[in-house]
Amino acid sequence: MADSYRILLGENELPQQWYNVQPDLPRPLPPYLHPATGKPVTPDDMLPIFPMELILQEVSQERWIEIPDEVLDIYRLWRPSPLHRARRLEKLLKTPARIYFKNESVSPAGSHKPNTAVPQAYYNKMAGVTRLATETGAGQWGSALSFACNAFGLGCTVYMVKVSYQQKPYRRSMMQIWGSEVYPSPTDRTDSGRAILAQDPESPGSLGIAISEAVEDAVKHEDTKYALGSVLNHVLVHQSIVGLETKKQLQLAGEKADVLVGCVGGGSNFAGFCFPFVPDKLKGDNIRMVAVEPTSCPTFTKGAYMYDFGDTAGLTPLMLMYTLGHSFVPPGIHAGGLRYHGDAPLLSLLVHEKVIEARAYPQNPVFEAAIAFARTEGIVPAPETAHAIRAGVDEALKCKETGEEKCIVIAFSGHGFLDLAAYDNFIGGNLIDFEYPDSKIQEAIAAIPKFPG
Ligand SMILES: *Cc1c(COP(=O)(O)O)cnc(C)c1O
Repeated sequence: MADSYRILLGENELPQQWYNVQPDLPRPLPPYLHPATGKPVTPDDMLPIFPMELILQEVSQERWIEIPDEVLDIYRLWRPSPLHRARRLEKLLKTPARIYFKNESVSPAGSHKPNTAVPQAYYNKMAGVTRLATETGAGQWGSALSFACNAFGLGCTVYMVKVSYQQKPYRRSMMQIWGSEVYPSPTDRTDSGRAILAQDPESPGSLGIAISEAVEDAVKHEDTKYALGSVLNHVLVHQSIVGLETKKQLQLAGEKADVLVGCVGGGSNFAGFCFPFVPDKLKGDNIRMVAVEPTSCPTFTKGAYMYDFGDTAGLTPLMLMYTLGHSFVPPGIHAGGLRYHGDAPLLSLLVHEKVIEARAYPQNPVFEAAIAFARTEGIVPAPETAHAIRAGVDEALKCKETGEEKCIVIAFSGHGFLDLAAYDNFIGGNLIDFEYPDSKIQEAIAAIPKFPG
């Protein structure tokens, strides 16, 4: 064990329960609010789009939630995932720190997203649903849900942002391999899509438009529901499998983590990775948790903590979270998964309570770290994941200055084999470091309706 590269758990050591952070929060999570009434959202309000079991998980105060056998059975196709010791990266950096990374790139879709796609498909199947509708940007979530729906014999309709559909054909291919119908959004299949097309037949689409189309599809069809890949509490519960395995693996390695780092788009991979460590921290354990975001979408580092819509069109319930405003459109950076205007309410609460810290990086230093990682550890990180690597590298370089032998653990959310154009751009010197002027961010925040109160 002393010189191992990978710390592995057997299939029989796969956690049998998910962890829910809600009962361990320093204060209760404020409710979602109905956009029309301003009153807390009830389970009945959510039933047209989600099955009851997932709605119950959304508000559950149970610390442990049993993972159904049928879900464990699919998880075992790739889980438990390995925890790697990044010895060659440590050597390159000449750091006394020990660097580990929890490798979620080994899943069928190449990221952490199947961890929630599989249970979501399962609970929908159990509720008698026959088809799921969803949106996807670059295709990470769409491919994860396609894999999961196929595993349980559900139909899957994916509204894929048109510009990505045209520019990133390979994840579309994966979705089709797993049996999904994929449409470039805006489509003429929904009122929301037709309204956009009437204004602009050449619209490149956006995640906000695609969400509206998928939700409308679910609401209008009795047998169809909607699935979301991040942000919501039940998604974070499912992703806790990542942190629970990591805890076991660190114990096996005889380690105690000093710093946990992960990238944040909506917050699901990072929350799943670090929430199982939150009770230890609240009991006084000296562990830091660092959420990493791009400077082009600085939700935690420059956003406001207030109620806002989850989508661009303003159709979803209002959630108390860090936000840049639902109309905020970040520039087209390569880490597409990190371009969300808000952050998971649970993660937002813990950042607000200073249990979790946050930092932001521009693209160039992020890709520099990703290349160093690929050249030492061999795996090409997803551009999103590269943000976590940058932060892990910086923590290790700090240790080099102070001589501290810290244990740093990175959430490796996915591989970048379908994002190679981003690397071409970096190597060609064509990546633009984009930073919003503060005034522009203040403007976006000021435009968020003050609601409620
Ligand atoms: C989607 C995605 C992210 C961002 O989503 P979170 O919900 O914040 O985890 C990060 N990394 C990869 C590889 C992704 O596919």
